[in-house]
Amino acid sequence: MKPTDISAPDYFHKVVDCQWACPAHTPVPEYIRLIAQGRYSDAYMINWQSNVFPGILGRTCDRPCEPACRRGRVEENPVAICRLKRVAADFKDDIRQRLPRPSARNGKRIALVGGGPASLAVARDLAPLGYHCTVFDADPKAGGMMRSQIPKFRLPDSVIDEETDYILNLGIEFKGGTRIDSMKKLLADKYDAIFVGSGAPRGRELDIPGRKEAAKNIHIGIDWLSSVSFGHIDKIGKRVIVLGGGNTAMDCCRTARRLGGEDVKVIVRSGFEEMKASPWEKEDAMHEDIPILNFMVPVAFVHDNGKLTGVTFQKVRAEYDAKGKRSLVPAGEPDQTIPCDDVLVAVGQENAFPWIERDCGIEFDKWNMPKVDPKTMGSTHPKVFFGGDAAFGPKNIIWAVAHGHDAALSIHKLVSGEDISERPLPEVHISSQKMGIHEWSYDNDISADMRFKVPHRDKVVALKDIRAEVELGYDVKLALGEAQRCLNCDVQTVFAPNLCIECDACVDICPMDCITFTENGEEGDLRQRLKAPSPHHDQALYVADGLKTGRVMVKDEDVCLHCGLCAERCPTGAWDMQKYLIDMVHAGSSCPTKSRSAA
Ligand SMILES: Cc1cc2nc3c(=O)[nH]c(=O)nc-3n(C[C@H](O)[C@H](O)[C@H](O)COP(=O)(O)OP(=O)(O)OC[C@H]3O[C@@H](n4cnc5c(N)ncnc54)[C@H](O)[C@@H]3O)c2cc1C
Ligand code: SF4
Ligand code: SF4
Repeated sequence: MKPTDISAPDYFHKVVDCQWACPAHTPVPEYIRLIAQGRYSDAYMINWQSNVFPGILGRTCDRPCEPACRRGRVEENPVAICRLKRVAADFKDDIRQRLPRPSARNGKRIALVGGGPASLAVARDLAPLGYHCTVFDADPKAGGMMRSQIPKFRLPDSVIDEETDYILNLGIEFKGGTRIDSMKKLLADKYDAIFVGSGAPRGRELDIPGRKEAAKNIHIGIDWLSSVSFGHIDKIGKRVIVLGGGNTAMDCCRTARRLGGEDVKVIVRSGFEEMKASPWEKEDAMHEDIPILNFMVPVAFVHDNGKLTGVTFQKVRAEYDAKGKRSLVPAGEPDQTIPCDDVLVAVGQENAFPWIERDCGIEFDKWNMPKVDPKTMGSTHPKVFFGGDAAFGPKNIIWAVAHGHDAALSIHKLVSGEDISERPLPEVHISSQKMGIHEWSYDNDISADMRFKVPHRDKVVALKDIRAEVELGYDVKLALGEAQRCLNCDVQTVFAPNLCIECDACVDICPMDCITFTENGEEGDLRQRLKAPSPHHDQALYVADGLKTGRVMVKDEDVCLHCGLCAERCPTGAWDMQKYLIDMVHAGSSCPTKSRSAA
């Protein structure tokens, strides 16, 4: 193998698995260490710079970082990265003095359609640079689906108000209750750029017999949830069936339990493991006495003269073809009718752009989605950008934020007369953590604790009040314990071959058998010859040559604990523990305009 180029910005970035997996590349270990030191405001600000909504995301993020977390490879559970973010938000001081000031206007006007996380992230990046940002939203207040869909028992209004206000107070003009009904008209207003963050606002229909006749008691999940959020609906029948297996279904069933549903069931076509809902959302629903029934396909709504009385299901089972592709086939059992008073349909979301004229210069594909460049977020109209759910279909808040950063950078480049396809390199800092011969500036003592549970409100109390937040968050003591589970993956093991005398002391002391000195070879062959098996081929091998014997040093980055024992043991200082910090470029950062390699 070729020696590893550790100066490439992405090499060590990938070793920080959580940060690499986060769409906004939040510097996770950095803020976790600050939490351990009780520096909550500093931890909050690091989050605010990258993911914009730490308090909101600390309660609701889909957490792509956690399945990637190294701790989950060396024991069962990853670090509770997401809930530690909430700790920073809960225990911070007043940080308003640390936010950017509304700045002198630069004469450029940007229109943003929709006031959800995507548009707000764009506005947050552009307003401090002097742009006049106008956000239009059909809803009266900013927040998008964070406000209209996510139930208050998961995300209180006070948290949404606080974090949307931090952004709106940067001098952003918010026009609530204003639906944009024509892109052509908006283009005629001569904005310097337009950002479309209008989300995926349409719930998918379930057109089976009885749908029209029993319509009064069949509700589209996302419409129903927003009616609950805005106080237009405050009760539901005693027996409720929720159709669908995603997170919307989980929010529907838990909301129904709080509005009078006593017998609430979630019924899903697929198996339990394949359901789209996150494991913790399913757990929370089941904890609230909501059974999940799988492999049942709804075939008809049953009604008595238009009054819904139940739903009939066909029972199915999964069958796999030779390529492993799954299909659902009838199980050969009789259909089953389950009685109910109301049905909530949560079988998916769709995009809808009735207000974008198809001849205004924005091309759409065969699925009726705008053609959007995933790197720049630009459409085929040079001045129009998309992001969040409007760009590629329903995703989540953290992806909406990541799109927002990319679109803001493109808009800033466009207005500055630069090529938007040239993406700047992130800034990378790497520095030794050596404080003495065997002492590091970070705590490298590996905690053996298992993941700490987040305390929940008593179920009886929680089910009585739809606004009572269920998760209570870590207290300071639990937060410290959880923070100490982090393996500091950003403190990198850096090897200097010219100092190595090949004594093998590091090989002997490494508790995970990460290090091997051997003859070089092809990657597949080298992986076979390592001291410990190397099963995760997506994890890099760090290869260094230049040793006197002609061998190479190969370090499998997979399960390294970043404990620093190799560096402590090494008699010549060939190993060093160096902290790697990568600052993703946002609009306005000063940066070289050389293309970055990935991320
Ligand atoms: C029930 C449910 C629960 C969810 N829970 C989570 C969760 O826990 N965690 C998570 O990460 N994600 C969750 N999501 C997904 C998340 O809410 C969205 O992915 C995210 O809000 C998308 O952000 P956005 O900015 O693209 O659009 P949105 O948040 O959808 O905001 C779009 C805004 O645009 C406005 N708008 C639309 N058209 C127009 C127009 N023509 N003129 C003016 N305004 C317009 C809408 O009123 C809306 O306010 C959930 C979604 C649902 C449905
Ligand atoms: S152990 Fe810490 S730094 Fe490493 S991936 Fe997990 S959260 Fe990130
Ligand atoms: S830091 Fe060094 S000793 Fe510790 S696990 Fe990693 S390679 Fe092994």
